[in-house]
Amino acid sequence: MKANFTEEINLLLRKHQRRAKDWKFNRAITVLHKWAKRMIANFHLGIGIPALMIERLGRKLGRFTCGRNPFGLRDEIAIDEGALYELPLYMVIVTVLHELVHSWQEHHGMKPRSKNPHYHNAEFRQKARSLGLLVGVWGHTQCTPGNTPLLNLFKKYGFKVPEIPEPKPFPQRQRRLKFKGGIGKDGRKKDKGVQAVQVGES
Ligand SMILES: [Zn+2]
Repeated sequence: MKANFTEEINLLLRKHQRRAKDWKFNRAITVLHKWAKRMIANFHLGIGIPALMIERLGRKLGRFTCGRNPFGLRDEIAIDEGALYELPLYMVIVTVLHELVHSWQEHHGMKPRSKNPHYHNAEFRQKARSLGLLVGVWGHTQCTPGNTPLLNLFKKYGFKVPEIPEPKPFPQRQRRLKFKGGIGKDGRKKDKGVQAVQVGES
């Protein structure tokens, strides 16, 4: 497998998304693309620029599509729309990294045997851990504190994150907790209850 490939359509899609100023996710996707690019380069993942999309995913915070999607695009990563409203930005970036690790595994690792719980297999979890993410077999993901590549990357780019707590034990299978905040004047959900969804499945 080539070490670093991006099909042209993914680059064009990213350009299109950045230019689509009338799209409500224009700014969000531009930020996520910026971090995806930084993570791919700094962590030497050797994977292509993802075809990023934002949609309602229900219980999941993110999704990686193995192989080609229905448009024939590779490296499709979907991020949950609700996560953009409910989670602090660093946790959305954590979700993007989780999905990038799926992409890394598809291109460089062992194909998972099947869907959960084998999907987040030992190789996946080990790779995620080496970058600063603790992932459970069901895909629950926590950022780990300390001197990790991810937290160092945040520091490198001057992106401040709250103090990361020590990881908690993973639930057997946790439903995504209900959002408890209200809707603010700007139409965005207030961020009460953010802590409650910091262990998300993806
Ligand atoms: Zn996953």
